[in-house]
Amino acid sequence: MKSASQITAVALAAGMAFSQLSCGDASADGKEKSKVEKKAPAQPAKPVSKSDEEWQKILTPEQFEILRNHQTERPWGRAYYEFKKQGEGTYCCAGCNAELFSSKEKFDARCGWPAFFDTSKHENIKTVRDVAFGTVRVEVRCNVCDGHLGHVFTGEGYDTPTDQRYCINGEVLKFVPKVATGDDPSKGKDK
Ligand SMILES: [Zn+2]
Repeated sequence: MKSASQITAVALAAGMAFSQLSCGDASADGKEKSKVEKKAPAQPAKPVSKSDEEWQKILTPEQFEILRNHQTERPWGRAYYEFKKQGEGTYCCAGCNAELFSSKEKFDARCGWPAFFDTSKHENIKTVRDVAFGTVRVEVRCNVCDGHLGHVFTGEGYDTPTDQRYCINGEVLKFVPKVATGDDPSKGKDK
């Protein structure tokens, strides 16, 4: 039988391990992972480059397939329904924590993937011409870690300020609620 002090020590160790989890390894204990951050992650100061092996250590298998192998999550998935329920806040890259979008640019495109009409940090996004599947599309990547995020479509007739649809894989976005950042999610938008 364990003594009270042993039990306390085990509980403390478990609690400590949990509090030390960072954005990338929230699923390390095998529980349902949550992509909602309790506090705003530090922004990367320089480009992030890792080997596939290193990426696999910090990403879930699905995040790895999307970010590093340019795969697409299935539409109307769990990440999409979580996205629909989220309130004010910012969306960061699951690979490197760079801020990419905010709730201010979010809109309901009814396409089964998270949609934004603009980015919140233009310098953290890059676009690349994508000719896979015999069509020409514009791929959206994180400009900090070069991770694949999704595609951007223009002129589809959405009633938004830009008529652009950044169609983004929800699995590779980390949501940081406004209460966690303590400041306005539109900060830096003038850039
Ligand atoms: Zn990134």
